[in-house]
Amino acid sequence: MPNPEISKSNTNINNLQDYFERKKNFDWWSDAFNQMDWLPGGGLNNAYEAIDRHVKNGFGDRVAMIWVGKNDEEEQYSFLDIKNKSDQFGSVIRGLGMERGDRVFIFMDRLPELYISALGVLKAGGVIAPLFSAFGPDPVRDRMEDAGAKYLITSPELRNKLNDVLPKIKTLKNVIVVNKNGRHDEVLVDGDLSYETLMESEGGKDFEIEPTSQYDFSIMHYTSGSTGKPKGVLHRHQAVVQQWLTGKWALDLKFDDIYFCTADPGWVTGTSYGIMAPWTNGVTQLIYEGGFGAQSWYKLIEKYKVTVWYTAPTAIRLLMRAGSEVVEKFDMSSLRFIGSVGEPLNPEAVIWGNKNYKMPIHDNWWQTETGAIMCANYASMPVRPGSMGRPIPGVEMAVIDESFNPLPTGEVGALAVRPGWPSMMYGYWQKDEMYNSRFKKGWYITGDQASIDEDGYFWFQGRADDVINTAGHLVGPFEVESALIEHPAVAEAGVIGKPDPIAMEVVKAFVTLNTNYEPNKELRRELIRFARDKLSAGVAPREIDFIDTMPKTRSGKIMRRLLKARELGLPEGDTSTLEDD
Ligand code: AMP
Repeated sequence: MPNPEISKSNTNINNLQDYFERKKNFDWWSDAFNQMDWLPGGGLNNAYEAIDRHVKNGFGDRVAMIWVGKNDEEEQYSFLDIKNKSDQFGSVIRGLGMERGDRVFIFMDRLPELYISALGVLKAGGVIAPLFSAFGPDPVRDRMEDAGAKYLITSPELRNKLNDVLPKIKTLKNVIVVNKNGRHDEVLVDGDLSYETLMESEGGKDFEIEPTSQYDFSIMHYTSGSTGKPKGVLHRHQAVVQQWLTGKWALDLKFDDIYFCTADPGWVTGTSYGIMAPWTNGVTQLIYEGGFGAQSWYKLIEKYKVTVWYTAPTAIRLLMRAGSEVVEKFDMSSLRFIGSVGEPLNPEAVIWGNKNYKMPIHDNWWQTETGAIMCANYASMPVRPGSMGRPIPGVEMAVIDESFNPLPTGEVGALAVRPGWPSMMYGYWQKDEMYNSRFKKGWYITGDQASIDEDGYFWFQGRADDVINTAGHLVGPFEVESALIEHPAVAEAGVIGKPDPIAMEVVKAFVTLNTNYEPNKELRRELIRFARDKLSAGVAPREIDFIDTMPKTRSGKIMRRLLKARELGLPEGDTSTLEDD
């Protein structure tokens, strides 16, 4: 049974309900497409929509970005500043020989230069692939190699992490290093280029936007599956249409808002809703270089009078743990809307938000592959705590059975979407077969399990595969297993998600050892450290158990399902395919 509804947020109610009624009568998306500012030759460029359009319309002086550094430095950039600087970087990268469609990786903390260079590359017709700066060298190398990366934009300390792997990426032409405000002694690795020097020598005055079409590739994000290494999800410039519109509807963005998105652009939320949605809506964004902190976040909301805040369940659970007393120390009266995405948002969190922030937290659902919000508790409708809301107009979602037919109300099945929404991925980079496998009988199969209640609200019920969701980030067990077996002690590794009250799941590994290695505490610690160095603290296992034999199917596949059942003390289910010892 759904939880009781709780109050609407204290927001200006938009007209979504009206739209719902009208959507039957007119071509939904074409109306939205018509509202874009198309390029003179009929093209579409998402960075132009986000930034240049406002300058053209006379809003160049508006503040686009308030940047707060990890040492509390502050910088402000107007839309005109960002336009000029991204033009400049567009000229820089073109001058280095970047061609339309080239993949440009950005491996950087949340610095203004990340946003400027990303927009510059997009305007010059390149494809940006931002990576989470906490990654270790292995995930960076895997992704850059897979995508045939041509350029890398990074900072000195992150460049250092990659010294061993970059020479192995044969397609790489240039590494551009941002030395923010001279934070580091100027020590460029031989052959690297200085961002600051390049920008100084490039006026950007004659820069012309590449006449990209709506179908040109724009952004690539890697996402994990249960088999193989993460795959590159390719998006097109036209995704901006849905990002813009859902920014309005699902996040209730209005022109005068001060918006704070806590997601990093290394993940899709950080580009779709940390670049495109706010800026296409002309909103001022607060960008904070630092990580999570209850006090520091509340202080930022108070100081900059944040009105709309988009964050994630793990962060909300941490804020709940920090307690009401911390909230009370700050004046958060500027806030009028809170959104959340990435994992299921517990009903208690919505209720806690209602009590402590004086408004509910609006959960919404989407994926790297969908490119934008698909299902949401909108501003204009009552929030159902624990539900991810209803599909946005123009999106058809269903819960289907094994024959791909919609299930009756309340039954749990596969969450599926009718293909054709504007921000739908174009493909998995060079993995057509895998892409095709996601489409069945006219549906895109999301990989999630869900149910629908009698009022059309969707309820997340879990993943249909072995992918682990830790703190809102998907981790493919295969990637972790591959890293562990590179250690000489490890014979085999099986990785599962173990339920966790804060992060939803944490990564747990089971390993068998090669002969001559003894299972003990030191080895356990060493393996965790080893995986952290290679992957990142968030992806590496938090726990490791040594086991004598790895449960496998007769065809040799590790039975993670069984490892999980054993871990949780659940029935082991069908073990008929289990290999004999
Ligand atoms: P990603 O592609 O990394 O953004 O992860 C997408 C996955 O995160 C979805 O397929 C879900 O499994 C999970 N997810 C995202 N948003 C929600 C939500 N609101 N409720 C439950 N799970 C979610």
